[in-house]
Amino acid sequence: MQPYAEMSTEELQELRKQLSAKYKEFQGKDLRLDMSRGKPSVEQLDLSMGMMDVLSSSDDLTCEDGTDCRNYGGLTGIREAKELIGDMMEVAPDYIIIYGNSSLNVMFDTVSRSMTHGVMGCTPWCKLDKVKFLCPVPGYDRHFAITQYFGIEMINVPMTPDGPDMDMVERLVAEDDSIKGIWCVPKYSNPTGTSYSDETVRRFARLKPAAPDFRIYWDNAYGVHHLYDHDQDHLIEILAECKRAGNPDMVYKFASTSKISFPGSGIAAIATSRNNLEDIEKQLKFQTISHDKVNQLRHVRYFGDIHGMVEHMRKHADILRPKFEAVIDTLERELGGLGIGTWTKPKGGYFIAFDSLDGCAKAIVARCKKAGLVMTGAGATYPYGKDPHDTNIRIAPSYPPLSDLILAMDLFALCTKIVSIDKILK
Ligand code: PLP
Repeated sequence: MQPYAEMSTEELQELRKQLSAKYKEFQGKDLRLDMSRGKPSVEQLDLSMGMMDVLSSSDDLTCEDGTDCRNYGGLTGIREAKELIGDMMEVAPDYIIIYGNSSLNVMFDTVSRSMTHGVMGCTPWCKLDKVKFLCPVPGYDRHFAITQYFGIEMINVPMTPDGPDMDMVERLVAEDDSIKGIWCVPKYSNPTGTSYSDETVRRFARLKPAAPDFRIYWDNAYGVHHLYDHDQDHLIEILAECKRAGNPDMVYKFASTSKISFPGSGIAAIATSRNNLEDIEKQLKFQTISHDKVNQLRHVRYFGDIHGMVEHMRKHADILRPKFEAVIDTLERELGGLGIGTWTKPKGGYFIAFDSLDGCAKAIVARCKKAGLVMTGAGATYPYGKDPHDTNIRIAPSYPPLSDLILAMDLFALCTKIVSIDKILK
């Protein structure tokens, strides 16, 4: 394939005509395709339907320690759930609080509590002139939405293939005590699919923040979400590494079973040091009497243990893998060698990140939409919705059926070609 930059104006104009004709054909198909959000497909949700049958009216809903799951009590979660989720999060059960149905909710609460009551006796953030968060970009729009909601200033930190630019992270946290946090998706990151290298995790654990209440928000949303059996990313466990580095309280680790069982009806958790847990429990006891223990028990009885969960994740992978491969195959076949885009090839998680030529992402997404394909809004992967180079597009292959996905990616590649030619010819 000849790179577009090496083609003459006449050649590009001719190609543009052919591509426009193809685009018109797509428009005539009245397509309704959606690749905008990282939701499991119906087929994936069906995998967990057995969970509806593990508890019946004749079952004993008593935990091993005698807790009756039908009643109030057990503020931090049932022991069995802490063991299961502990194994999933690679943290001992004693360092875990099981929450309700959403880890995003736990993250929101964590920021909210820091704003109103401070972190472990430090000044509440709402009493400070300025509070800032570092935001590795591209990143997860809903993280950025939380910090924006609280009026926290967000600073972009570029992602590299090894994780966030650690030179920048180290420098900024050391020199500015108004930086109170950093959003991280360390494994199969949203949206790049990147996993942090060992070196990156070690550097995180050894940060020397100017603010004593600086915390790493380690959102391990895709911890067990591998696509392949034999080619998986494994990270150094951050809580243990922080402890080893003399920074035991510096990290909050979040996770949920949203993309394991049912999004919105799973269980979420935080894992952190004893000091942080005590700080959190001071608020939690006013917030609720207990979370949904019946759902916790349902998860435990369904998965049994981490081995059951890993087996279950293999079934998710069998559904997701062909979809990820279809996206990558189309990108390579249609755009490889043209010099008009780059993309990631994740080994897990829910997303693939595409980077267009500078200034093209918005136009590509708009052109897709006009032909019936909804993508995540360009810019969404940056704080304030502002992608400074207008290049990043998040591709979410999980939800559409494979046949729709192939069609959608053909259309996406076509739109990318048209917009890129227009940009070059400008
Ligand atoms: N964190 C990340 C990185 C995500 O990508 C998502 C969902 O896409 C969530 C959290 C949402 O998690 P939950 O359903 O537990 O709120």
